[in-house]
Amino acid sequence: MTHVLVTGGAGFIGSHACKVLAQSGYVPVTVDNLSTGWEDAVKFGPFEKADLQDRGRLDKIFARYQPEAILHFAAFSQVGESMTDPGLYWRNNVMGSLTLIEACVAAGCKNFVFSSTCATYGEQDGVALTEQSPQAPINAYGASKRAIEDILENFEASHGLQHVIFRYFNVAGADPDAEVGEFHQPETHLIPLVLDAIDGKRDALTIYGTDYDTPDGTCIRDYVHVMDLVDAHILGLKWLQDGKGSAAFNLGTGSGFSVREVIDNSAVITNREVPIVEGARRPGDCTKLVSGSGAARDKLGWTPTRSTMKAMVSDAWRWHQNGHYDK
Ligand code: UDP
Repeated sequence: MTHVLVTGGAGFIGSHACKVLAQSGYVPVTVDNLSTGWEDAVKFGPFEKADLQDRGRLDKIFARYQPEAILHFAAFSQVGESMTDPGLYWRNNVMGSLTLIEACVAAGCKNFVFSSTCATYGEQDGVALTEQSPQAPINAYGASKRAIEDILENFEASHGLQHVIFRYFNVAGADPDAEVGEFHQPETHLIPLVLDAIDGKRDALTIYGTDYDTPDGTCIRDYVHVMDLVDAHILGLKWLQDGKGSAAFNLGTGSGFSVREVIDNSAVITNREVPIVEGARRPGDCTKLVSGSGAARDKLGWTPTRSTMKAMVSDAWRWHQNGHYDK
């Protein structure tokens, strides 16, 4: 049995990755401190409750499972919070990742798949982003992820750590079977908040800024379905197992949706009204983040099949109505 360590396996993307890893014949071992994740979401393999800054625990976990690879999802990921508490992001994301990378190298594990972000690119004047675009993050979240990319490069040079870096655009949707889904407390992401507003779990959705330099004045993002995203991770894992070497790929579809377009689509797809309030800009938000790269499709063979607004909102809505975690 091939074991793969999944840090953040109790979280949104990590739990979906565990499901697909198990379906693909791997044993996903969730490593999560449950600071934002849910034990209920760990359904597809063993669970090790551990903090990534606890090197002693990590060494024991590596010795126990002798994993073939790491899929490293665990991180704090809220742009707004990273602007008010940057230390949290540098400590948790960077120190945790460094400790994990050192433990990984010490255990002789050579394959590392890392969740990075399009927030590492920063403001680029509305151009579509490729892997070669300059990385100039404008928030501490993006900066922390950029730093981890640098650490991985250093550890490849010194220890031969092969890595695939995925720079995510906006991850949305949920497992179509609603076995796992997106459940943050507090929730900060656009689509789940729109669904909360639709069914009265909150009074209204606040639009963060209506004066951006975009056709309708709201920020534009590139949304990708979580199931498509985790498919790319399986391909990234195989890429490393096949010895194809380190690489970085954007994971986005190349289609941009404004905040207003997401709201309008959600109203149509759910056939419900979305109460909205127009608010101030959220510090740290870029005007537009859209992928301009086909590298994941061309080189990895990635074929996103569910990343339409219709599938993403419908799957999120099904989960929203039926699924939740209790602990
Ligand atoms: N957004 C918004 N209202 C909200 C939450 C998000 O207008 O209550 C906007 C946010 O400013 C950004 C987009 O929706 O332009 C996506 O934000 P999200 O937090 O989902 O993801 P991020 O782009 O920060 O990774």
